[in-house]
Amino acid sequence: MTATATGISAPVPVWQVALPVPLPRLFDYLPPSDIPNVPPRGARLRVPFGNRVLVGFFIGPAQAEVDGPALRAVDAVLDTHSPFDDELWHSLNWAARYYQRALGEVLALALPAPLRQGEALPDTRIPHWFLTEAGVTARARLRTGSRPRALADLLHEGERDEISLEGMPKWREALRSLHKRGLVDSRLLPPAQQVGSARSVAPDLSEAQREAVEGIQGLAGSFGVALLEGVTGSGKTEVYLAAIQHCLVRGKQALVLVPEIGLTPQAIQRYGQRLPVPVHVLHSGLSDNERARTHALMARGQARVLIGTRSAVFSPLPEAGLVIIDEEHDGSYKQQDGFRYHARDFALVRAKRLGIPVLLGSATPSLESLQHARHGRYAWLKLRERAGGARPPRVHVLDLRGQRLTHGLSRPLLDAIGACLARGEQALVFRNRRGYAPVLLCHDCGWHADCPRCDSAMTLHGRRRLICHHCGHRRTVPDACSACGGLALMPQGVGTERLEQALAEVFPDAPLIRVDRETTRRRDALEKHFEQLGDRPGILVGTQMLAKGHDLPNLTLVAIVTIDEGLFSADFRATERMAQLLVQVAGRAGRAQRPGEVWLQTHHPEHPLLQTLVSAGYPAFAEAALNERQAAGFPPFSHLALLRAEAPQVEPLDAFLRAAHAVLRGHPDISAHPPMPAPMPRRAGRLRGQVLLEATQRPALQAALRASFPRLFELPEARRVRWSLDVDPVDLY
Ligand code: ADP
Ligand code: ZN
Ligand code: ZN
Repeated sequence: MTATATGISAPVPVWQVALPVPLPRLFDYLPPSDIPNVPPRGARLRVPFGNRVLVGFFIGPAQAEVDGPALRAVDAVLDTHSPFDDELWHSLNWAARYYQRALGEVLALALPAPLRQGEALPDTRIPHWFLTEAGVTARARLRTGSRPRALADLLHEGERDEISLEGMPKWREALRSLHKRGLVDSRLLPPAQQVGSARSVAPDLSEAQREAVEGIQGLAGSFGVALLEGVTGSGKTEVYLAAIQHCLVRGKQALVLVPEIGLTPQAIQRYGQRLPVPVHVLHSGLSDNERARTHALMARGQARVLIGTRSAVFSPLPEAGLVIIDEEHDGSYKQQDGFRYHARDFALVRAKRLGIPVLLGSATPSLESLQHARHGRYAWLKLRERAGGARPPRVHVLDLRGQRLTHGLSRPLLDAIGACLARGEQALVFRNRRGYAPVLLCHDCGWHADCPRCDSAMTLHGRRRLICHHCGHRRTVPDACSACGGLALMPQGVGTERLEQALAEVFPDAPLIRVDRETTRRRDALEKHFEQLGDRPGILVGTQMLAKGHDLPNLTLVAIVTIDEGLFSADFRATERMAQLLVQVAGRAGRAQRPGEVWLQTHHPEHPLLQTLVSAGYPAFAEAALNERQAAGFPPFSHLALLRAEAPQVEPLDAFLRAAHAVLRGHPDISAHPPMPAPMPRRAGRLRGQVLLEATQRPALQAALRASFPRLFELPEARRVRWSLDVDPVDLY
């Protein structure tokens, strides 16, 4: 191809490697001299890269024309078997193409950290202990009543002649002592896959539940999607459990995805008690080694049921039978930085390749999924009633116009809370803003305390602290207004902290528990809060952390302090999210014996979507919202991609966005909107802008991205900004 000074270069055999670096290309390396065999595709390799050593993935052999810097050689081949089976390999390749992310980055992210760093798949076998011959003889001589004797007796007399002591820490000392003397030994065996029979029994399913289970059964063994729509408490989890049972009976693995806040100990316990196999869990609170072990258990088929949050969607599923996505509308399924995948969408892609059904469950399905159901692409299963005959809560819309408010709470609402407490019941006061007040305002001149680094007000915490919720910047409250020097600085609006104080003043005798990110830093804190309250009459005040989890049978009143922010946001998804959150929170009120009540405070009681939601429910709201989306040409009636960029100065930002826009426009059937500032144009001291791409057909958008994405990397302007591409963005900021 190219002539060099010494003549024509001959092609040399190389290995193509995908590396976890954000460049949309593969890299060539010389094969290691001491490895005669070509590794399987996806095998991990250790390679030099610049002055670093990286773990990359083998793609395949190739011929390269060598010209320029000499090729470097692969240091080591780490795998004889690919860490990715066929399905996962192809699905991850799809994801890299679809989300325009370097394949090496996607492959690395799909592995738990130790594997990503080159460690071997951990051993999942468990030691099973037995008495040695010496132990059998010596047993009688061990002191009666001692722990070692008791353990030796247990091993001797047990029904089985060996025991796994996993989860039995009290034997550890005795075991060590017997082992030191050569009286016991162990062999490694795969972990148990059965825990015998389930430890609690299923209720008799209702007619609607049975139909739903049959609907999913009908899809077994082939790809298909069922949308299970049912309010909180309608028995969706029972349907999941029955579907998982059927999946296990067929000898298959089940994957259950739950939103971040949905994975409470109570929920996990329920699965664990009802299924005849160990239930494995993946969430952000686990150590890297725990994650790697669970990954290995799934890869070897030793784990049959996995429940996890977003990233569990990358788990190996060699014997897949079913994927369940609980609360499929939940925003936490979308990764918001780096590799911006959507776990629900990726799960659907995997299931299609695996030929297995997907069950999407929600009280408030996403408009995307509803649109598929409306067109018959998804089976649409409905649970209309709450299990056990509970009645839906009564909804009161409180018009705040002209009302006197006590720290954001109107008189009728306070009266209702008082009556609820007097009946010996619990009230939940919901406000999705933590802190004391979202704004500190000068009553004399209108100045408010803004973050010096963001285009945003700082939130008042306590009386003295201002914190920016976008960049974390902190300062103490100034003594006087920075603009006019006046002293009339006043908190404006309410956050959970202020509500807590206000409610404590009005109801000094009621136990009051605040649940938000500040009071709930530790993973188990949420559960502790709920336990602390128990069934006593009292008040819970908090953010959307309260929307899910822990069953509260004595909760009968839900108050939503204001819903107005959701009604008038610039984001086209804001009303959908508002409605979903509202229905979720409201769904917590009431039981069969005690009907619930929901109080909504608003300055806009006449808002049409709100009226539809309140008078006709979520399905009618969703119908109306879909019609609005269609009229406006928003998803799911169009497909979006958002190019975001940020820089410390305006000039490089503008230059990049202009150059990028020039590359992105001019593709057939897509429109590239002109560069715009982001809805928050400055954050953490950086200026932010974006280019929105829109197409009515997904393939057109994909074709445009494929053609232009590599060119964006080559733009000289790209080096002076941070930029990223978000395919199917859920937030347009
Ligand atoms: P969801 O997942 O839709 O919120 P759950 O499955 O958690 O609903 O059910 C709510 C409550 O009703 C649970 O306590 C559950 O045990 C109970 N329940 C569900 N289905 C039935 C049924 N068919 N008969 C009796 N109780 C049921
Ligand atoms: Zn002022
Ligand atoms: Zn800030």
